[in-house]
Amino acid sequence: MYYNDDTIVFHDGKWLKAGEAKASLYDQTLHYGNGVFEGIRSYKNVNGCNIFKAKEHYDRLQYSAEKMHVNLSYSTEELINITYELLDRNNLRDAYIRPVVYSGPYMGLTPAEETHVFIAAWEWAKYLGTNPLHVMVSSYQRPNPKSCHVEAKVVGHYTNSILATTEAKRLGYDEGLLLDMHGNVAEGSGANFFFEKEGTLYTPPAGNILPGITRSTVIELARELDIRVVEKHFTVDEVYGADNAFFTGTAVEIAPIASLNGEKFKGNWEDSAGHNIYLMYRQKVKFNEYQGLTIV
Ligand code: PMP
Repeated sequence: MYYNDDTIVFHDGKWLKAGEAKASLYDQTLHYGNGVFEGIRSYKNVNGCNIFKAKEHYDRLQYSAEKMHVNLSYSTEELINITYELLDRNNLRDAYIRPVVYSGPYMGLTPAEETHVFIAAWEWAKYLGTNPLHVMVSSYQRPNPKSCHVEAKVVGHYTNSILATTEAKRLGYDEGLLLDMHGNVAEGSGANFFFEKEGTLYTPPAGNILPGITRSTVIELARELDIRVVEKHFTVDEVYGADNAFFTGTAVEIAPIASLNGEKFKGNWEDSAGHNIYLMYRQKVKFNEYQGLTIV
């Protein structure tokens, strides 16, 4: 699904066939989860394609690497150029891009000296599909920001996401909504959360969440559309009275939520602020106005 015999990947400065790129079973990331990664999308346009907010994504990778003491020796600009070349070599336009910086063989609990950079890309439809989602309030909380850097995209953090999504699916839901350590709504397992009430959007502030690039884009677009956005802490009870709700993330894009714990949102998604923003988002992602970089 992610690669075939012709797929080319970037690994430590080399262009390799996906099946030939190798990592060690002694890598620290495999044992302890200390690696950092990104999820990025490119969108086809008349000139070729645009990697949406490539700079923001690679700057976040640099930030995550720094916070976790994982050495990343490529600059954001180099990584962007490598990624456009990766898309070109694989003849991909609408693609999902996965860079990972992982630590080499080392069993100590200090940073590994050796680190590796792997970047792959593949075609990937909207991660949670296109139907409005049935979401449950997860029994798992997001990690306490005093136990790790929640705002960084760290490999090991995703065990929390896997637990929450698995729980939700086993109970017949599509996805979980996780609270923070104070019992306020935080985010989904791989996406940020917004709800809409009387035309205003509400979303949790940065602090106990991974403040996503799609989340910032939605806030920017809301401003352009004169839609009020309030960043504040709120409980699940406030969400039950909402007109609509949606998740935002690179993989899920903007995904409407039909119900929370079985309670349907009363508004019509097609008439909502979230849907208007989604339509504008679909247009914006194709163009390079945020980056100034496009391949032909
Ligand atoms: N929260 C979590 C936990 C995530 O994994 C993601 C996906 N990176 C997001 C939010 C959304 O972030 P972005 O919009 O930058 O993809």
